[in-house]
Amino acid sequence: MTEGSQGSVKGTPFAGNDRPSRSFGKGRVCKETGCGTRLSIYNRGKYCYQHEPMAVPRTRGKKIA
Ligand SMILES: [Zn+2]
Repeated sequence: MTEGSQGSVKGTPFAGNDRPSRSFGKGRVCKETGCGTRLSIYNRGKYCYQHEPMAVPRTRGKKIA
């Protein structure tokens, strides 16, 4: 009887791992004219990261007007 290696539990494998997480459609492209960058299915916006209107560069500290 070898009880020495009994408690070796290797993390339980996730069964539902190959399930696609929330996606927003495949093969969508940036709405910007002439861009045509394919959007990630995880990108819920209509634009690529370069043209995403919400992509505001963060400035440290105060906002400079
Ligand atoms: Zn774009």
